[in-house]
Amino acid sequence: MSDKKTINVLVWDEAPTHAPKSIYPTSINGAIAEGLNADSGGEISATAVNIDQPNQGITDEALAAADVLLWWGHARHEEVSDELAAKIKEAVHNGLGFIALHSAHYSKPFKQVLGATGHLKGGWREADPADTEHVRVAAPKHPIAEGVDDFVLGQEEMYGTPFDVPPPQCVVFQSHFPKGDEYFPSFTVTVGKGIDPEFTSGPGGGKGQGEGAGRVFYFRPGHEAFPTYFDTSVKRILLNAVRWAARRS
Ligand code: ZN
Repeated sequence: MSDKKTINVLVWDEAPTHAPKSIYPTSINGAIAEGLNADSGGEISATAVNIDQPNQGITDEALAAADVLLWWGHARHEEVSDELAAKIKEAVHNGLGFIALHSAHYSKPFKQVLGATGHLKGGWREADPADTEHVRVAAPKHPIAEGVDDFVLGQEEMYGTPFDVPPPQCVVFQSHFPKGDEYFPSFTVTVGKGIDPEFTSGPGGGKGQGEGAGRVFYFRPGHEAFPTYFDTSVKRILLNAVRWAARRS
C-alpha cells in the first residue's frame, strides 16, 4: 500500500457502563479514536465502534476495510460471539494489525489471536488509594517508543507477571508497581500467515518464516476508572502503535 493511504482504524469497546462518564464522556473507544484522529495529521481515520451495535460493532465490510483494530473489553468478554472472535483471528492472522488494551488480555479475540489463556498469574489489584504505574521505555529504538520517555501514571490497577502469553518479539515498555513491587510488560508479537510451526532459526527479518503477517501490540495500562487514555504519553504510544501495526514504521 502507498504511504499516502489513510490508515483505517476501528476502536472497539464493550460500551462499559462502569467507565465513568465524568472521565470518558464518549466512552473509552471515543477518547482513543478522537485522540488518534486529532494527533495523526490526517494519516489515521479512526472509528469508534461497540458491542451494542449491529454485528457487535464489527461488520464483515468494516473488518475487511480496516488496517488496525484496537480492542478494550472487561466485563462483557463472554458476550462477544465466538463467530466474531474467529473472524478477527482470521483477519489478524492474514495481516490486520491488532492492539489489545489492558483488560483485553481476557477477551476472546486476544486469546484466539495469540492462542493463549492470557492469565495474570502474578495477580491483579485495585488498591485504595490506587497503585501508581511507572512505565519504563524498555526498547527505546522500537517505533512504538518513538518520542516517548519514561512516565508515571498516578492512578492505575495493578497486573502482575507471569503473564500467560507467547514469548514477545519485543517488550517495548516495562511497567512497575511500587506498592507491591510487581512488573508487567507491554509487548509486540507477530502471528499468522508466514509462521511455520516447525521453523527453528534463520537469518532474521522474517526470512525463513520466523515472522507472521499480523502485527500485535498488547498495552498494559487502561483501567476504566482512571483517565489513562488522555495521558500525553499514552496517546503518543497508541498513535505509534497504530502506525507500526499498519506496517507504516
Ligand atoms: Zn482494569
